[in-house]
Amino acid sequence: MSNETTPIRPDPVFTPDAAFFWEGVTRGELLGQRCSDCMKITHPPRPMCPVCHSIKRETVKLSGRGIVTSWVIPRHPAPIGFAEAPIVALIELEEGIRMVSNVIDVAPDAMKNGIAVEVRYAPTKGGKAVPVFAPAKGGARE
Ligand SMILES: [Zn+2]
Repeated sequence: MSNETTPIRPDPVFTPDAAFFWEGVTRGELLGQRCSDCMKITHPPRPMCPVCHSIKRETVKLSGRGIVTSWVIPRHPAPIGFAEAPIVALIELEEGIRMVSNVIDVAPDAMKNGIAVEVRYAPTKGGKAVPVFAPAKGGARE
């Protein structure tokens, strides 16, 4: 969890396809969409499997562990809903999918690609939550 006492982070805006994802996050679970035919996990959730075009979907629980593959600190314009510019990162999860999220508990000077991270849940101002990532116990993987 971050140190925010009163959350100012904006609420997630989600599509019907991604409702299960955000409901999971609000409960403290990171969920993914898996194709029932080819078993490929994809993100973000969508009506049709991008691999085999099946429309049969199921929900699976994700490990919440991954690696930072790319990141940026967007300082201009100032991000809305953040006291300081957050670290925005592309996280590759163990399941092979990539997710754009924020990295917390890392000083900007110490941020780099390859950091092993695990999911946390940051509260939003409307009482919902969004997944963010913090350094995993065990530290960075080079
Ligand atoms: Zn498929």
